[in-house]
Amino acid sequence: MQVFEKRSALKRCLSFIKEQNKQIGFVPTMGALHNGHLSLISTSKKNNHITVVSIFVNPTQFDNKEDLKKYPKTLEHDLSLLKTAGCDIVFIPTAEEIYDHQVVATSFSFNGLEDQMEGKFRKGHFDGVATIVQKFFNIISPTNSYFGEKDFQQLQIIKKLVQKNNIPVRIIGCPVFREKDGLAMSSRNIKLGKKERKAAPFIYQSLKKINQKLSETTIEETLLFVEGQFEKHPILNLEYIFIAEEKTLQTPKKLETSKKYRAFIAVNAGTVRLIDNISL
Ligand code: AMP
Repeated sequence: MQVFEKRSALKRCLSFIKEQNKQIGFVPTMGALHNGHLSLISTSKKNNHITVVSIFVNPTQFDNKEDLKKYPKTLEHDLSLLKTAGCDIVFIPTAEEIYDHQVVATSFSFNGLEDQMEGKFRKGHFDGVATIVQKFFNIISPTNSYFGEKDFQQLQIIKKLVQKNNIPVRIIGCPVFREKDGLAMSSRNIKLGKKERKAAPFIYQSLKKINQKLSETTIEETLLFVEGQFEKHPILNLEYIFIAEEKTLQTPKKLETSKKYRAFIAVNAGTVRLIDNISL
C-alpha cells in the first residue's frame, strides 16, 4: 500500500497506472474508519484494478468549528485497517496542500437538492463537500467513485455535480452498513457516551416505524406520530425528520407506486449529531 501526502506524487503514480489502461476506484473518507467505509472499499476492489482511498477531514464542509475540532482522528489505526482491506493507494493531504493555501469553498447550485435536511441545517455544507470532491476528482480522475447511502443527500448531490460539470466518473451508491442493533455505522459513534449509545438504535427503529405507519396512514400523520415519539425521548433530540422522493429530494403530497422514496432523520445524542435514512 502506498501512502501519498502530495498531489504531484500521487498524480505521477496514477498516470503510470492509467497508461496501463487500469480502472481506478476511489473512496473519499474523513477517516476514523469503520466497517461501513470498508464495505465501500471492498466494492471498489471487486470492480477496479486499483483502489484509492482519501482520508481528509475537510474544514470547508463544517459550519461549526467545535464540531470540526472534535471530529475523531485515528490515522494509525485507519492505515492498518486499509492495509488489511487491500487498499492500494491512500491519499492524506493537508488542507494547505489540497486547497492551495485558500481554504474556502466554491458556491454550487444543485437544482434544489441542497435546500433541505443537511443543506438547510448545516449552512454551506454541500458547497464544502462538492468543492473537495471535485478537487479529488481532478487529481485522481477515477473510473468509479463510491459513496454511502448513509449520506443519501450527499450521494445525490455528487451525482448532480458530476452530471452538471460533465466529470467523467461513474458514481456508485453503496447500502448503509449497520451495527447489530441497527445503529448506522458512523465515525461519530465512538464519541457517544454510554447512555447515548444505548439510546441511538431508536433512530433506526423510528425509520422502520415510518415505513410501517405509511402503509396505514398519511405522510403528515406519520411524521406527527414519530415526532411525538421523539418529544417523549429522554436522550435523543430530533433535529429533523423528512420524507422525500429519491431523485428530487422533495416531499410528495402522497406516495406513488412508480417512484422511490426515503425517510431521513437527524438527531443530537448529547453532543454527537447522528443521521440515518431508510428506503420506503
Ligand atoms: P465519511 O468518512 O463519514 O465522510 O464517509 C465516507 C464515505 O463512507 C461516505 O460516502 C459515507 O456515506 C460512507 N459511509 C459512512 N458510513 C457508512 C455506513 N454506515 N454505511 C455505508 N457507507 C457509509
